[in-house]
Amino acid sequence: MTWDLLLSGGDADIAISGGRIAAIGPGLPRDAREIADVSGCLVTPGLIDLHTHVGPGYWGIDPDPIAWCSGVTTWVDAGSAGAYTVAGLRRVAETAAVRVHALLNISAVGLAGRTGESRDLANCDVALAIDAVQANRDLFHGIKVRIDAETVGANGVEPLRRGLEAAQACGVPVMVHIGTAPPSLDEVLDLLRPGDLMTHCASGIAAPLGPSVRAAAERGVLLDLGHGSGGFAFDVLERQLDAGLLPTTVSTDLHARSLHGPVFDLPTTMAKLLAVGVPLDGVVEAVTTHPARALGLSCGLAVGAPADIAVFDVRKEPFTVVDAHRQTRVSPIRLVNRATYVAGRLLPPRLPAPPAPWIPLTGAQRSALDHRTRAIRDLLTTPLVGVDGLAEQFPRRSK
Ligand SMILES: [Zn+2]
Repeated sequence: MTWDLLLSGGDADIAISGGRIAAIGPGLPRDAREIADVSGCLVTPGLIDLHTHVGPGYWGIDPDPIAWCSGVTTWVDAGSAGAYTVAGLRRVAETAAVRVHALLNISAVGLAGRTGESRDLANCDVALAIDAVQANRDLFHGIKVRIDAETVGANGVEPLRRGLEAAQACGVPVMVHIGTAPPSLDEVLDLLRPGDLMTHCASGIAAPLGPSVRAAAERGVLLDLGHGSGGFAFDVLERQLDAGLLPTTVSTDLHARSLHGPVFDLPTTMAKLLAVGVPLDGVVEAVTTHPARALGLSCGLAVGAPADIAVFDVRKEPFTVVDAHRQTRVSPIRLVNRATYVAGRLLPPRLPAPPAPWIPLTGAQRSALDHRTRAIRDLLTTPLVGVDGLAEQFPRRSK
């Protein structure tokens, strides 16, 4: 038979038909409608980003303009939607080129606004959350609870208790976001069960370094990186690594305020782990098999599996990376995504979506966005107009 696509020259050849992997092995016959040479490349299952925001609201971004050049085929929305706002997230999941899965916010208003979603406990309705998960099992694989002083007000860990109650009833994990106390980090971590996730695990704000973190990790609570605009500090991660605490999953917390820096994308976040000495194999597991196992998603290059595949150039060159507090480190490797396939389909280049009008960008973030826009315009075609004006498009008559 003639395959749709053959990725040839990698560790093994991969043949794709009908959106699935049809054969894997060395020296497959070159009988395919299209052959892509991936020799010298790192070929991985499509990456899974366990903490992103793609649902409509203050934080949400369009995943497709980032996925095509980052290898991320599965985007897990971490709590943008609550029970009141499921429909908006479902529309994104239905229309995006990538796969969208989600964690339901225990607060029914979700992240429609900037924060504060669990200050009113009437929003943290356990029965409603259970119903939303049960009615949308294909979409929701866990419950998200954000616990920090701004989000919960005077309610302490009560939103987390409610999230755990809903999760227990549905047989899914809770992902808890940690941040500024109160409530104290110990109070939060002591409630978590094996298989639950602590995101922003190397946060410079919460600085989780004490015995409660070790105890949580020892009983099977998973540490998720969740970089974001404020959730990751190199010095905290380095001290955790010295203490033997390695993040199980590496995620971006990519949203409207982290997309244009300091996060940018998942390969850049992976480089931050490489920069502190985590080996490449371990970093790849933290964005493929580990997040898949955490939520019971499928992942892997196997015959019959969906052909979600990422192809990277592994450039052995120093790459300076920055955390959320402007601390820098140098990665010995830069991963450059060459191709991203979802169900065997190559994602085409997409221009960056403009930031929402309520999102403040710094000068540096704005210039990063302009730079990316120019680079992608150059890749697509010669630009019609400069990004700085409309003068060429609407020429004024000279006097
Ligand atoms: Zn988040």
